[in-house]
Amino acid sequence: MSSPIEYLKGVGPLRGDLLKKELNIFTFGDLLEHFPYRHLDKTKITPIAQVNMSMDYVQVAGRLTDFEIIGERKGKRLVAHIRDSSGSMELTWFQGINWVQKMMAIGEEFLVFGKLGFFMGKPQIVHPELEVRTQANAVGKSLLEPIYPTTEKLKVRGLNGRSIAKLTAVLLPQIHVKDLPENLPESIIKELKLPSRYEAYCHIHFPSEQSQFDNALRRLKFEELFFAQLRMGMIKGNRHRFSKGIVFDKVGDIFNDFYNHHLPFQLTGAQKRVLKEIRQDTARGHQMNRLLQGDVGSGKTIVALLTMLLAADNGYQSCLMAPTEILAQQHFNSLSNLLKEMNVSIRLLTGSTKKAEREKILNGLQSGDIQLLVGTHALIEGVVQFKNLGLAIVDEQHRFGVAQRAELQTKATIPPHVLVMTATPIPRTMAMTAYGDLDYSVMDELPPGRKPITTVHRYETARPSIMDFVKQEIAKGRQAYFIYPLIEESSKLDFENLMKGYEEVKAFFPEPAYYISMVHGKQKPEVKDTNMMRFKTNDTQIMVATTVIEVGVDVPNASVMVMESAERFGLSQLHQLRGRVGRGSEQSFCILLTGQKLTNDARERLKIMCATNDGFLIAEKDLELRGPGDIEGTRQSGMLNFKLASIVQDKDLLEIAKNLSDRLLQDDPDLSSAENLLLKSYLLLKKGKTEWSRVA
Ligand code: ADP
Ligand code: MG
Repeated sequence: MSSPIEYLKGVGPLRGDLLKKELNIFTFGDLLEHFPYRHLDKTKITPIAQVNMSMDYVQVAGRLTDFEIIGERKGKRLVAHIRDSSGSMELTWFQGINWVQKMMAIGEEFLVFGKLGFFMGKPQIVHPELEVRTQANAVGKSLLEPIYPTTEKLKVRGLNGRSIAKLTAVLLPQIHVKDLPENLPESIIKELKLPSRYEAYCHIHFPSEQSQFDNALRRLKFEELFFAQLRMGMIKGNRHRFSKGIVFDKVGDIFNDFYNHHLPFQLTGAQKRVLKEIRQDTARGHQMNRLLQGDVGSGKTIVALLTMLLAADNGYQSCLMAPTEILAQQHFNSLSNLLKEMNVSIRLLTGSTKKAEREKILNGLQSGDIQLLVGTHALIEGVVQFKNLGLAIVDEQHRFGVAQRAELQTKATIPPHVLVMTATPIPRTMAMTAYGDLDYSVMDELPPGRKPITTVHRYETARPSIMDFVKQEIAKGRQAYFIYPLIEESSKLDFENLMKGYEEVKAFFPEPAYYISMVHGKQKPEVKDTNMMRFKTNDTQIMVATTVIEVGVDVPNASVMVMESAERFGLSQLHQLRGRVGRGSEQSFCILLTGQKLTNDARERLKIMCATNDGFLIAEKDLELRGPGDIEGTRQSGMLNFKLASIVQDKDLLEIAKNLSDRLLQDDPDLSSAENLLLKSYLLLKKGKTEWSRVA
């Protein structure tokens, strides 16, 4: 398995170098793991009359009726026809004419395979593979021929998708059962009716029929999913059993005083449940590492605050981090407001905190005078030292990476508890794979009294009547957002669009009857903040903004959102943006404005948005439409980089893998039983080889 690839017959130094550079194939084992992306089916013979444009490769069989050599020099070619009982087809050769000519025997029966082309509406094959038909291949061959991913440079060296199969064909007979020892326990193989590991590798390359391939693929996909689940399950289990953690064992005066006298509303059932989970986590003496998912508006902030008060009751400091200045500021304002009658010290630290103030805060953190710190990620830069940080809360986790999490660990001798909050609903399958090592809570309940947002799709042409509608809403005392796509902050065209939009909105809503705020990514933070604050305090009735407004901004009085060029937004983003309205008790509206021309995908997105307010459903659809690679924040995670399995198409298999892994670890958390030894040694073998284990 570890033999250098250039030693394989048919490779050599030149191709060897290219295989390394182009496909990362260094060894025999690497080539074995270079899986075909499809197979050519040579087991079937298609009647010529049924050959049609939807096919790419076909196999036909028939008698040679005629052939001739036509054209001169470069145009010289051999053209032949074969006929079966249903029709006739043209075959053409430009090269090797002499050799082909020797095979041409009128009346002889041939088996013909090749890439189908059409010339003047008639099917033909250029340079087909040609074999005399015998008893052995009379009804086709017992072979599905693999085609492999390749690159232009390899093609030049004679290694196209099909010729790589010649290498795997040389390789496979040299690989033996002992090279691919079983890594799954007998019981699982039996339960799931999986082929052995060795068989699976043989059949994924060269199956003799479709079902063999299907079984091999299922086995190898299961392996990927199962070992990923097992690794994460073990990390989680080890943390639960062995990590050191600060103990928050009492609910004290601060928490109780706030809960009984200053909480402005009753907690929802979901909020209570999550708090209970957090309390259990933090009382056990092990580090909490919990992901809290709650749809926009589900009330995560208050959960964060109560958890911080719990830390304070136990004599520990806590910090809350947000991805942007606006959000940090907003959190700070709303938390300070909630705590205004209490004797809890809370400060804001961001990139733009003035030097003198900054010094004071840094001192206060070291002395322990500051109990709660709110900030942007600037907060975890090296110079910030706490006296006794006990809890770190990260809001909108998808902008917060693994590296930052690691940095946090250096802030205290016993690592602080970590609570990561996100409003981006993550489909279950994705959460299982990307965050399977974390504990995981979902807040699936909105505070009472919220009316579902009414969402409609309108074309550009309806703009005047939409403006009238917005006017009516403002006349009732409400506020409105107009959101413009600004995919990249630097895009000049988008910026011009925004300015044009602003002028347009202004023409419909002139001063002094109306005032407008505008917020975009090119503004200085102070300007942004002033504009935000004016909207929040209802000084301005309209907010014209780009997607910078996306996460977390809270203005309950805003009840209308108009999304300009809505076809340009992704589903999850549309949902996040829409979550800016519907935060108060009034009926809210979201209007998706688009041009007339829409792609099918865009149409689908708009349809889903109009049909549901359910963030999890939308996330599922988004995952289906875009695939896991594009979902924000998971791109670099590496954990989703399965070679074969897909968390979209192989949901069921993932569920099975997860259940089996949970069951197994429950009974044998260290994998020390005889039956699980295979698993353990395989995990150890793979350790350090994957992106994943580095991240973990
Ligand atoms: P998100 O989960 O999106 O961060 P927030 O924490 O900003 O949500 O809460 C959204 C709004 O709902 C805020 O105005 C907040 O005061 C309010 N809220 C939160 N919890 C409750 C509750 N249990 N009852 C009523 N209103 C609540
Ligand atoms: Mg929030």
